Amino acid sequence: METNSDQDFRDRPNNIDASGQRKWIRAKQPKGKWYLRRNIVGYLLLIFLIVAPFLKIDGHPFMLLDILNRKFYLFGLMVFAEDTYILALVMAVTVISIVLFTVVFGRVWCGWACPQTLFLELVYRKIEFLFDGNGRKGKNKKESVASTGVRRLAKQVVFIVVSIFFTNVFLMWFTGPAQLWKIMTEPISDHLVGFLIMIALSMFYYWIYSYFREQVCTLFCPYGRMQGVLLDSNSISVIYDFKRGEPRNSKVSEGGDCINCLQCISVCPTGIDIRNGSQLECIHCAACIDECNLVMKKINKPYNLIRYDSYRGVESGKRSFLNARSIAYTAVLVVLMVILAFTAGRRSTIDVTMWRAQGTLYQQLDSETISNIYQIMFLNKGNEPLELTLRLLDCPSGELTIAGGKVILPPDGKVKEALIVKMKKSSLTGKVTDFKIGLYSGDQLKETITSNFLAP
Ligand code: SF4
Ligand code: SF4
Repeated sequence: METNSDQDFRDRPNNIDASGQRKWIRAKQPKGKWYLRRNIVGYLLLIFLIVAPFLKIDGHPFMLLDILNRKFYLFGLMVFAEDTYILALVMAVTVISIVLFTVVFGRVWCGWACPQTLFLELVYRKIEFLFDGNGRKGKNKKESVASTGVRRLAKQVVFIVVSIFFTNVFLMWFTGPAQLWKIMTEPISDHLVGFLIMIALSMFYYWIYSYFREQVCTLFCPYGRMQGVLLDSNSISVIYDFKRGEPRNSKVSEGGDCINCLQCISVCPTGIDIRNGSQLECIHCAACIDECNLVMKKINKPYNLIRYDSYRGVESGKRSFLNARSIAYTAVLVVLMVILAFTAGRRSTIDVTMWRAQGTLYQQLDSETISNIYQIMFLNKGNEPLELTLRLLDCPSGELTIAGGKVILPPDGKVKEALIVKMKKSSLTGKVTDFKIGLYSGDQLKETITSNFLAP
């Protein structure tokens, strides 16, 4: 088994040789409790990815990122591009969560939930095991050249079909299943742009998982590069117990517990040697934990020479999964999420924007009355239609006119109207007078808008 020398890992990733050429990683299939757990979590997430666009709540999508119409359904909650504070809060909570979670639990995300890992390890790698056999061993050494060619071609065909399938799943998150089905069943010429996007994405997807593979993590992923600043000696990560393992010795009865069998490297999807310590290529998939435990079982040594632990835990010999810091950070995360849920739950179902009609200031109707013209946009974020009337508040001498007298808003709908406000000079406080408009559904005040009125 070829690995970088003890110090080479500092100079280049293990999937690149000294001349800069790519070294193909053919990881062996791990066996053990962590692999089983990761499969369960990963397949549940993949099922969610496929099923979520089909789910509905009250007739509305459970998940839909409708960028063209600038509205998003997140876990059944309708969020419009106009809900800037909710979107900003979601982004802030996401960034803070990633940072806090990484500081405490390391790169659990990478190994257990990142789409790149899920697709590569749980979909494409499994297809590879099926066609090529397990890892570096290959399927059949006596196989003829012709049947090797057929086998490899068949594998690539399956890769292409799977890539097209997942590209369509991905697109369904943006179009919804009904629209995607319409696009698929109507003539290609009616949706040429959409068809070309689907083909380009499928090719890109196929290229990533058939050729580029783990290099996404080792060369490009910015998250991997942030580990150097996010992790410290208390962070939980997949770690080799150097106190127990060293000095390595292939003789079981001599040296530390590590027998230098290199099995931990053989299952590693990024081809690294975890015994070299924390490395940005490590995606914390725990495959090396399982494989080393199998070795420990065979040589009758205690399990978990490689395990989830912190550097401090290994040094002190006390495992420290839950400590004051991890509990405090988790509490902050929970509080942030509660704030987000509370804010999202309490947001108004009506959004109103009002602005002065372009190119107008005021109109003098007679010696006593002045009018201003506005544009007003209503957005119904609820699932029910709304009938709204508008009333001027705290201004008995004023008058408000809107086309049709009332506003009828369909569910998820937008309506734009012209609005004329008339006021008597006697009720104005100067050249600019602030006023309020109440939005009523029946007699219930739903929203108040504040604007200003211009006069000579
Ligand atoms: S699998 Fe365990 S015993 Fe074998 S080289 Fe890796 S750490 Fe050492
Ligand atoms: S070192 Fe272990 S945990 Fe890290 S990527 Fe390799 S197999 Fe996974």
